[in-house]
Amino acid sequence: MENNCIFCKIANGEIPSATLYEDEEFRVILDLGPASRGHALILPKKHASDLFELPDETAGKAMVLAKKIAGTLKEGLKADGINVVQNNGTAAGQTVFHFHMHLIPRYQKDTVQVTWTPGTLSEEDKNEILSLF
Ligand code: AMP
Ligand code: ZN
Repeated sequence: MENNCIFCKIANGEIPSATLYEDEEFRVILDLGPASRGHALILPKKHASDLFELPDETAGKAMVLAKKIAGTLKEGLKADGINVVQNNGTAAGQTVFHFHMHLIPRYQKDTVQVTWTPGTLSEEDKNEILSLF
């Protein structure tokens, strides 16, 4: 556990939370500042600051768990869709530096904003980015 990490404390049960699911490696809780009804967070119990620090095996299990919990939320809350959001770095909107995945149920007429204005892909960018791989 990382010192003074609130999600370490929540994931490991040191701070109480509205827990939807728990196993040896993960805790899934309700977000205290929900974007929509049913907004949940998947937290690994072992600290990793972000996706880049997360072990591959945990990353794989987190996505399988996201699928399972998202299904229950969607059906149980009669949501019309679900956004799976995962922020890394301040620039990307990360505010708690313990890896987590957001499950945000979406409803046809909601006003949640998980959106951007589409740009255009230049030839120069395309070639430079393709050359990274
Ligand atoms: P992010 O901006 O991706 O780092 O997301 C952090 C999320 O954690 C936000 O949606 C907050 O509402 C949520 N959050 C912060 N503190 C708590 C807490 N103590 N319990 C539940 N959710 C929290
Ligand atoms: Zn932590």
